[in-house]
Amino acid sequence: MKVPLLDLKSQYETIKDEILSVTSEIFESQYFILGPHVKKLEQEIATYCSVKHAIGVSSGTDALIISLMAAGIGPGDSVITSPYTFFATAGSIARVGAKPVFVDIDPDTYNISPEKISEAVCSMNASERSALKAIMPVHLYGQCADMDPVLELAKKFNLLIIEDAAQAIGSEYKGRRAGSMGHFGCFSFFPSKNLGAFGDGGIVTANADTFYEKLDILRVHGSYPKYYHKYIGGNFRLDALQAAIVSVKLKYLDEWTRARQKNAERYRKLFEEAGLSENIRLPAERESRHIYNQFIIQVSEKRDELRNHLTDAGIGTEVYYPVPLHLQECFSYLGYINGDMPVSENAALNTIALPIYPELTEDMQGYVVEQIKEFY
Ligand SMILES: *Cc1c(COP(=O)(O)O)cnc(C)c1O
Repeated sequence: MKVPLLDLKSQYETIKDEILSVTSEIFESQYFILGPHVKKLEQEIATYCSVKHAIGVSSGTDALIISLMAAGIGPGDSVITSPYTFFATAGSIARVGAKPVFVDIDPDTYNISPEKISEAVCSMNASERSALKAIMPVHLYGQCADMDPVLELAKKFNLLIIEDAAQAIGSEYKGRRAGSMGHFGCFSFFPSKNLGAFGDGGIVTANADTFYEKLDILRVHGSYPKYYHKYIGGNFRLDALQAAIVSVKLKYLDEWTRARQKNAERYRKLFEEAGLSENIRLPAERESRHIYNQFIIQVSEKRDELRNHLTDAGIGTEVYYPVPLHLQECFSYLGYINGDMPVSENAALNTIALPIYPELTEDMQGYVVEQIKEFY
């Protein structure tokens, strides 16, 4: 049996007519950049995420960069974030000239540890503390970080919060939607995300009018009015085609999320029945709405051998992420060494992502668990 990590073709089949109709409308109009389809999507996402504003941008990475720019963060500043995430999280901080300060994660959720943020801030000297401008928590794998203590620390130390919600659209923390809790929420429409475009795209959410206005201007080279440049912005625009496609898919997102949650439940049941609890640690479900962008298991040993075994059995897996960011070559100038972030380092060595996409069948999941059982 073949079980891919993700199967976008089977999802496309179910919405093909709607996609072709809306894209052909845009082809006829020959209006490709920003415009009414982008505006419509922005309003829909703002509603979906329970925020006042949303602004379509060119990618999830650019969502992070433009948020940092709108927050006025640059050279001489620092931002606390997780080392256990996709590169863009810390990459964006460095791209605006600021310094990423890594804080280790919680071993159960893989999200940044609020206790360790507190320790890190408290151990800073006066100049380090005055350079610190923001915290960028990541809602990894579709589950929100533990936000209440993070928000409290931000308030206490006068820091901005930029949520990296690229994997977490629709997820909730104590009833609050990802992207609605901080000053900025950054989302990605990369095709393999839960809500993916047919190319690159992203969106930023914000409640404050002042941040929204700045994001809006920065998105078009800081130009307002046209050809008068208040800031040095960039080309951070979202295409009409991508916006229209995402808008079609957004209608189905809750249905797809329920299917992912159901698949997660089924994995839990199957692993329990297989008696694999000694070898496999299942993902903790702490927050009220985990949307399962990924289903991550942690193994006690032989992760890479297990992965090879599953590959040979026709099962797609991935390692998110094999090298924590504090150990990436490009960040060696920050001076971190192996051992500095033990929880992240352990996760990088022992976790593996299993297929969880909505169209996955019961048979396929049974086969995945059977193959893992066979390996152990
Ligand atoms: C995907 C992702 C990004 C970047 O999004 P792109 O649209 O690929 O630029 C940023 N952060 C996290 C956590 C992601 O998973």
